[in-house]
Amino acid sequence: PQDKILVSACLLGNPVRYNGKSLTLQSDILLHWQQQGRVVSVCPEVGGGMSTPRQPAEIKNGSGEDVWQGKAIVVNNDGEEVTSAFTTGAQLALRLCQQHQIKVAVLTEDSPSCGSQMIYDGTFTSQKTAGKGVTAALLEQHGVLVFNQYNLEQAEQALTLMETV
Ligand code: SF4
Repeated sequence: PQDKILVSACLLGNPVRYNGKSLTLQSDILLHWQQQGRVVSVCPEVGGGMSTPRQPAEIKNGSGEDVWQGKAIVVNNDGEEVTSAFTTGAQLALRLCQQHQIKVAVLTEDSPSCGSQMIYDGTFTSQKTAGKGVTAALLEQHGVLVFNQYNLEQAEQALTLMETV
């Protein structure tokens, strides 16, 4: 059987983002995976118990790795700490990967959960910084390769490589 791929629910057209919208990704690669029945959808924030729409959140003073080390927290733009919802949702995503033996994920860039290269810097001023979200960091710590909507070709190459080894 072909490997499954974990994909952010908002990229699949589900209106689960903080603003109640989706971020639907139009891609032949994604469409092909869906036709093959290989896509497993997850929204860590909704899975962690957050409502939609919700206040936007950012990681304060660090990245997803720092959250797991207890060195940073996630706050919303009302200043409320929401770290535990983010870690709960990340653990749910990890369990899905383990259940389905998923080794590749395509997650939404810039999100405090799903971002794998860039996140917002915690100041709520639309400034991005290099770093991973809480879910992306946990998955990578457990050996899942995390890609985003801008590098799907690389995700496909990684899958092909794994399947031929
Ligand atoms: Fe999309 Fe991830 Fe945010 Fe959920 S947590 S809305 S899947 S970017």
